[in-house]
Amino acid sequence: MTRPLVALLSGAGISTDSGIPDYRGPGGLWRRDPEAEKLVTYEYYMDDPEIRRRSWQLRRATAALNAEPNAAHRAVAELERSGVPVRVLTQNVDGLHQLAGMPARKVLELHGTARKFVCTRCHARGPMTDALARVEAGEDDPPCLACGGILKSATVFFGEPLDPVVLGDALAISKACQVFIAVGSTLQVQPAAALAGVAADHGARLIVVNAEPTPYDDRADEVVREPIGTALPKLLSGLAA
Ligand code: ZN
Repeated sequence: MTRPLVALLSGAGISTDSGIPDYRGPGGLWRRDPEAEKLVTYEYYMDDPEIRRRSWQLRRATAALNAEPNAAHRAVAELERSGVPVRVLTQNVDGLHQLAGMPARKVLELHGTARKFVCTRCHARGPMTDALARVEAGEDDPPCLACGGILKSATVFFGEPLDPVVLGDALAISKACQVFIAVGSTLQVQPAAALAGVAADHGARLIVVNAEPTPYDDRADEVVREPIGTALPKLLSGLAA
């Protein structure tokens, strides 16, 4: 018998136990603070060196790169290690699924990653720690070492398109999976919301694990309101091979 493919969509709620706040969600920090939102809006970032300087200082100060995976991230990696085919589609940019042990090729980062920088001109990428070391050493807006272009975090800024390859893979997985678990996502930001709908349309069992109601609760086969750190390990142990 073929083991069912489990797709797990994770949002900010899975990382709050790791001390990472919700930046991007509908009620997230960026949406509540227009000045902060400018720091992650492509047009402002490219046009204004002062915005870039503030962005680099914010990246230096951010806790995301020092955060550790929590019980929920570990439970997902354990499910994969048990032999169940698992794919993670994440709205988070913290890299904590991979740090918990999920193979990187099985994690689709819909909004990119804060652990890398990317050049806006030649698309060269590298570890964010390298760019931050240059900021630490006195470069307040470090240019690309290959072409002199503007560097940014490899996260998807407001005003930037999602990576079409990542999005295509996420759609294919949502269509193919037998179980689709949405964890810690309000399912109000695209494409996450659409993916849950696609999975349900294609016959997947839809499970929503979130503290607050989501627009997909009515379509879900199961809705879990308990804290993610305890609810998810319990739920996933029931799926383990
Ligand atoms: Zn470059």
